[in-house]
Amino acid sequence: MSLKNIITVPDETLRKISDPIETVGKNEKLFIKDLFETMYHNKGIGLAAIQVGIPKRIIVLDVNQKDEKKNPLCFINPVVKKISNEKSTYEEGCLSLPETFIEIERPKVCLVEYIDIEGKKKEMECDDLLSTCIQHEINHLDGRLIIDFLSKLKRDVIIKKLSKNKPNTDRIVV
Ligand code: ZN
Repeated sequence: MSLKNIITVPDETLRKISDPIETVGKNEKLFIKDLFETMYHNKGIGLAAIQVGIPKRIIVLDVNQKDEKKNPLCFINPVVKKISNEKSTYEEGCLSLPETFIEIERPKVCLVEYIDIEGKKKEMECDDLLSTCIQHEINHLDGRLIIDFLSKLKRDVIIKKLSKNKPNTDRIVV
């Protein structure tokens, strides 16, 4: 296993639309292990393949809190099939946007269809934090970032700030 480098804004790779996975083979499984290792190492609770520069529709998540047991979840080719009218709001961070937190309202519940690490087609009803996280990560697969929820003016201020080189600091982000 190996840690991958997480790319950050303004790297244009983050704007790529990721491609679906056709088969889940040995290489994909090894890559998914690396994604989990990279996510845990960086204290994130979600990571999309594109965030390490690989434009494939794979995301990993673990929304369990610090003291709880690990609950690694992997979604391949995830598609949101249904959303609730009810919304929930979280202040979201992103491993690709250091030091940036944005309040975002998203559907509170969503039904996600995906392929698991064994290549089996599955469905999962996700609510609250898990719902927000999976929507955040699926946005990454479509080249969409949390700054896109802001006005162009506010977005440009953040991009300009992140374009200056800053040292990495330890912070817990989504
Ligand atoms: Zn993110």
